[in-house]
Parts: sequence; C-alpha cells; structure tokens
Amino acid sequence: MGKKSKRSNRKGRSVTNMSMLSRRLAKLEKESDESYQNWLYSKASNKLREGLEAIQQVQDAMMLIHTGLIDSRVFEMKASFCQNLLMLEYSSCRFDKVIQIYNDIQMSPEIEKEMVLSFICKLYGRLAMLRLDASNENKDKLVSLIEDHISEGMTARNEKYFCLEAVRVLRNLKDYDASITLCEKLERLDQSEVVADFEIAVSHLERYREEYHWQKDNEFALVRVLDGWKEFFDKQKQNLAPRLGTIWMVFAQKDYLCHQIDDKELSSQFCRNAIENVEKYLEWKWHFERHCFTCNQADTHFVCSGCRLACYCSLDHQRMTWKKDAVQGMLIGHEILCPMMKAYRKWKLASKTGDQKALKLRRRLDRECLYFLSHGLGLEDKCFREEDVQKLLSS
Ligand SMILES: [Zn+2]
Ligand SMILES: [Zn+2]
Repeated sequence: MGKKSKRSNRKGRSVTNMSMLSRRLAKLEKESDESYQNWLYSKASNKLREGLEAIQQVQDAMMLIHTGLIDSRVFEMKASFCQNLLMLEYSSCRFDKVIQIYNDIQMSPEIEKEMVLSFICKLYGRLAMLRLDASNENKDKLVSLIEDHISEGMTARNEKYFCLEAVRVLRNLKDYDASITLCEKLERLDQSEVVADFEIAVSHLERYREEYHWQKDNEFALVRVLDGWKEFFDKQKQNLAPRLGTIWMVFAQKDYLCHQIDDKELSSQFCRNAIENVEKYLEWKWHFERHCFTCNQADTHFVCSGCRLACYCSLDHQRMTWKKDAVQGMLIGHEILCPMMKAYRKWKLASKTGDQKALKLRRRLDRECLYFLSHGLGLEDKCFREEDVQKLLSS
C-alpha cells in the first residue's frame, strides 16, 4: 500500500512538472519570439537554450521515475525548440553552433532522434555543413536531401521557402547549374509563387557577371538573363516580401546590362533606372543602419570606419562580408559598396539639416553610383555612353 501511494505521488509530481514545464516553455517561446521580432538574435537564442535545458532536466527526471517511458509531449516541445534554435543560429551565421546542435540530436536515442529531427532541422544542419566545408560531398548530400523530400511530396509551403536558401548557397559557391536545377524543381511545386522565379533570375544574372570575361557567347548569355527576368516579371505580383532590399541591387544590375541597346531614348531610361535602383538599395541600407550588415541582427557594436554607415555585431561578421558578401545571396562585398555608402550618408545628413552643400554631395553620390555600376561590378565594357552620363549628372 505504502509503495503504491508513493508511486502515484511520483506520478502526480511528474504531471505537475509537465504543466509547469509547458507554462515555462510557452513563456520562453514568447520571449524568444519577441527578441527575434526585434532582431536580437543572441537574446532569442539564449531563451531557446534555456528552454532546451529545462526540457532536458524533465527528461532526465522522467527517465529516473519511469525508467525510460517519456511523455511524447516532451519530444514535441524539444523538436520545436531545436528547430527554432537551429534556424536562429544559422541566420546569425554561427554555422559551427548549428552543426553542434544537429550532432547532439543525432546522438540521442533512436525514437527521440526520429521525433526531434524534422526535415527543417536536417536542412539547416546540411546547409551549415556546406557553409563551412564546400566539398562536393556536402553539396550532393544537401541536394539529395531536398530532392528526396520533394519526391516524398513536400507540401508545407514554408519548407519550400526554406529550401531556397540552398539555392542561394549553391549560387554563392558558383555552382550555377546545380542552383538553377534545384530551384526549377522547387518552382514546379507551386508555380504561382514568385520567389523561386526571382532566385532563378538572380542565378542567371550572377553567372553572367561572374563568367563575363571568359564567356564565349556573351550575347546568348545575356538573352538567358533577360529570359529569366521575363519569366519573373510575368508572374510577379505587387509585393515581393523576402529580401526586399537586395531586390533593388538586382534590378540595378539588370537595367545596367540592358542599357546597351540601339534605342537611345530607352537606353537613357535604363541608365536612369539603374542609378535609381542603386539609390533605393542604399536607402534600404540606411533604413536598417543599426543592424548588422552581415546577419541583420539589431545588436551591433562596430561601425565601418570608411562609410560610418555599415554596422556589425562582431568583427568576425565585418570580415565575413568585406570581400564578397556571400551571406545575403549576392557576391558583392562591402569593399566595393563602401565609398558609395559614404557618399550616401554624407548627402543624407546634409539634406536633412538643409545644408547648402547638399547639392554638391548629391552630384558626388550620383558619380559614385555610376562608378559602382561601371567598375564595381566588373562589367567595364558595358559602360554607359558619355552623353548619358553627362545628361544624368546635369539633370
Ligand atoms: Zn552579425
Ligand atoms: Zn563601409
């Protein structure tokens, strides 16, 4: 009798533990979500880690009481926390942390592993591995993970959306064929979606830029770029939410590529559009000036001494995107953008205070934008015509 009452007492305690844990986790989830919304990634990940520790404690206690029989809710909670943490560490570019969490789940007992390791967890684990080691083996593993999931019937819309990160990583590794093939497969899953079309178009554009100097048939390559854009514009709806700012930089390049046409009027229009789009990109960066230019988080402690506009959460993140920005899906490093951002900041500050130097600074900014397009992108023989440049600078 005594034995029985003792056991029910323990069982009772574990039930209260579970509801206490649920409440505590709900609170932590809410707090981490708030920090995430405020883009305070490090705060958000601390909350999630705290949650995982709490889950582990309950799991350990349950192991002792029920000798291995663990409430499945514990695994469900763990799965949700692990997935959020993995994605968060990935967006903070802490790829070694992502792999660590991924490996920890891999090491857990079979049932637990099966319940906790979702497709998204596997995807981000594989993405982080490829980020740190761009071997063909890692590339193949990532691609076949996604392809297998597609053939099993990927239905969740967010899964497809997260898979597009693989398209960007492959593109950054200059494996344009793999990037475009994978993206086309994802696009076929939901043809009304424009994000995949956008990524395909960007891949064509970047390939063109990267292979420009040894491309045998530049004209044909350009047709391929423009076809990609046509596809995108045909389907594009009003708002293209993801990577809002990057889109201006991409549009600017497209307009720059298009301007060498016989129609003088249209050519001038393309020139103007190209500059306008570069400025829209700068405006977007200005708007997010206090966020890390590499990982976007709001906790920043460093500012670029060149432009005094680009902020970073760490020196590591400043270094990461100085030469080649391989993070936001474009191979354009801050080194090239810095002088333009400096000109933009000076003009912006002067025009705010009604400074009479503003007009002069405005001209300077236009010239920097022109220089960026004609020299920064490595497409020198696509330079604007002198008359267009004069027209632009005097208007
Ligand atoms: Zn950062
Ligand atoms: Zn700078």
